[in-house]
Amino acid sequence: MKVIHAAIVKPGTTLVNKTGGWRTFMPECNYELCNGCGICETYCPDSVIVKDGDRYAPNLDYCKGCGICANVCPKDAITMILEGK
Ligand code: SF4
Ligand code: SF4
Repeated sequence: MKVIHAAIVKPGTTLVNKTGGWRTFMPECNYELCNGCGICETYCPDSVIVKDGDRYAPNLDYCKGCGICANVCPKDAITMILEGK
């Protein structure tokens, strides 16, 4: 008989395990270029971009650095930079 091991975790554990620590590149926003369209928020697969006043800002505690926000931004307001630079 084949034994399958699976991990079951409690709900909400991603709030504890800050997934931003896996990142190699991080998004950097130029708010002078940003027009506040919110497209980056819509496309972020981890829903970590939040509206902060007139701005949209990634929560870097959870951003995985995929770069999708930078690719979809119509104003080229987001640049992916090496973590720690
Ligand atoms: S997609 Fe670009 S222009 Fe639109 S809110 Fe995000 S950073 Fe600003
Ligand atoms: S790099 Fe990826 S995970 Fe991070 S804010 Fe942009 S779309 Fe979201």
